[in-house]
Amino acid sequence: MTTFQRAGDIDHFLLSREWRVVRMRALERDGAKCACCGRTARHGVVMNVDHIKPRGLHPELALDLANLQILCSECNQGKGNKFQTDWRAPSRSGTPAEEAERQRQLTALSKRMATTNHGPDAA
Ligand SMILES: [Zn+2]
Repeated sequence: MTTFQRAGDIDHFLLSREWRVVRMRALERDGAKCACCGRTARHGVVMNVDHIKPRGLHPELALDLANLQILCSECNQGKGNKFQTDWRAPSRSGTPAEEAERQRQLTALSKRMATTNHGPDAA
């Protein structure tokens, strides 16, 4: 029987019931399909439920469904803790009308920033 000497050998979070419930919710929401490359287990990849903002940096978001995306193990390994890219399609966040409104607000915001920004020479 294997015994673990170091606490770091087991990630208790990944064994917790809370995580398993949220993980299944993420899989149900997005489908067991990589948000980055689109592959599924049928393509021979292992599916991971990934924290967009890493747990190590954002422990408060560890069980937040909005912070989860489905990645295959290959994409997930490439991502690591270095990137916090949300690979999910933006259309998931709202209806096309809501998306258009968001784009309109972003455009208005960038225009406002352009007019208030006097450039590095202003000071
Ligand atoms: Zn992938």
